[in-house]
Amino acid sequence: MTKKKILEEIEKKVAQCRACPLWRSPKAVPGEGSIDSRVMFIGEAPGYHESVQGRPFVGAAGKLLDQLLNSINLNRENVFIGNMIKHRPPDNRDPLPREVEACKPFLDEQIKTIKPEVIVTLGRFSLNKFLPEEYISQAHGRARKINYLGLEWILFPLYHPAAGLRNGQLLEALKADFLALGRFLKTVEVDSGPVDGPSKLDKPKEEQLSLVN
Ligand code: URA
Repeated sequence: MTKKKILEEIEKKVAQCRACPLWRSPKAVPGEGSIDSRVMFIGEAPGYHESVQGRPFVGAAGKLLDQLLNSINLNRENVFIGNMIKHRPPDNRDPLPREVEACKPFLDEQIKTIKPEVIVTLGRFSLNKFLPEEYISQAHGRARKINYLGLEWILFPLYHPAAGLRNGQLLEALKADFLALGRFLKTVEVDSGPVDGPSKLDKPKEEQLSLVN
């Protein structure tokens, strides 16, 4: 099956999922963007606007995310943007562990299919998916190697844009971290081509990982 077909199948399954009560929210938000992107952003859960439109990060936090992407010459068409949770939790409350668990197979399948070279987590929920013991205040703004699903990945944790909207200091950190992400992607790009170009995952792993500080 092609990558596109697999991701479409995941979208269908997300829309039909009844594993937790959140399916009653207006629309599922499976994620969107370039399926060949070397960068995948993972947020927390859709809010009101996302749930109405069925698209990730289209509210206030999304507008900030767009600006931050533009600051490093990216946009939402040349990266992939997904969420931990595919339906909106009521009143924008934090996702419950069983909701995270119910959506996990969908997100994991998206990650395995897209195979991004860099996974960018937005906020502590998605950071803790990969590194449960870590604090966002310490982990943000630098790349690191992780093992997940039996494979090695590069993780680049960032604050959540919604946190940047609430707190000026975090906004400054987020802007600086995005610039650091842009610089990091450039160093990876030298060998791998453009951000939404075909990924060279056949490149020797040591070479990829030597770029991680
Ligand atoms: N916050 C998220 O984490 N995801 C969205 O899609 C929107 C807001």
